[in-house]
Amino acid sequence: MKRKILLIYTGGTIGMIKEYSTGTLKPFDFNALLKHIPEIKLIDADIDINVFEKPIDSSDIDILDWITLGNILENSYFKYDGFVILHGTDTMSYTASMMSFMLQGLKKPVVFTGSQLPIGELRTDAKENLITSIYYASLYENDKPVINEVCIYFEYKLYRANRTTKFSAEHFDAYISPNYPKLGESGVNLGVFKEYLLKPSHTDFKVNKNLANKIDIFTFFPGKNKYLLDRMVSDNDLEGIILRTFGSGNIPSDKETLRALHKAKELGKEIIVITQCVRGNVNFGKYHNSLIFKDLGVICGYDITVEAATTKLMHLLGQNLKGKILKKQFEENLSGEITN
Ligand code: ASP
Repeated sequence: MKRKILLIYTGGTIGMIKEYSTGTLKPFDFNALLKHIPEIKLIDADIDINVFEKPIDSSDIDILDWITLGNILENSYFKYDGFVILHGTDTMSYTASMMSFMLQGLKKPVVFTGSQLPIGELRTDAKENLITSIYYASLYENDKPVINEVCIYFEYKLYRANRTTKFSAEHFDAYISPNYPKLGESGVNLGVFKEYLLKPSHTDFKVNKNLANKIDIFTFFPGKNKYLLDRMVSDNDLEGIILRTFGSGNIPSDKETLRALHKAKELGKEIIVITQCVRGNVNFGKYHNSLIFKDLGVICGYDITVEAATTKLMHLLGQNLKGKILKKQFEENLSGEITN
């Protein structure tokens, strides 16, 4: 049976062209660029295309763009069998993670992809990424989608979106999924590792578009000014702070840092602890330098990526969750983003 696929183009290198006067890449009319991949017509699927009104470099992605994407998916969910979203690689892991939280009760494949070289260039990686993404989005067995979650397909590998991070600005192999196995690999056959896929949800499909962005990230580094954390904590506007700590959740043990954390707790700020390590887990109390977190009862991010942590926090704060309930939800697995 021919599957119906919606291809959404938000922007990114995949559809950019070089401006010859300056040599820089900028978004271009994607419909015109599609002529560079006549192969797309050979795919056994009905493909409709939705192009963002103003395609953007993904560094410009903002909450309103996520809401636009959410609206497109909400309005087209029942009309299509699968979705492919073309997005700039720079912030694809953020947008794709955000979609994994916003699209609740998802029971269809949503595959993000992009490319490191524009589609019009001879050595482009765009064709393979785009064509295989469409194949993954069309993958059905016994009339049921094989994939029921948000993924990123890039350079022969299919990943759970909210486990990815952009790892290379120049290699075709741009993403890694440091704490979760890949969901598929395309070679001669389209491989899917079913044991790692999310099971289809039992709840109805719904797009949750309430997002809050009064959050920030604080990165520790040796020699950092000890008063900067207090400054961030004292910002009345901030509701949540993600702490990028060392190793398994360790931070400097000086009195200014500890005082700032106590103050954050008193002020009712949501504190989420993640690690600067690309791979591995936060473990409160493994070392003396993380005991403070156990004492304060802050939120443990375990092995979550910074992309998933920020988007999950924006999503949960957007539901007006606070304190213990927020902690419980954050530490739970909402869409496969965390191992706790
Ligand atoms: N700056 C581009 C973007 O993220 C990079 C890319 O697409 O590869 O939109």
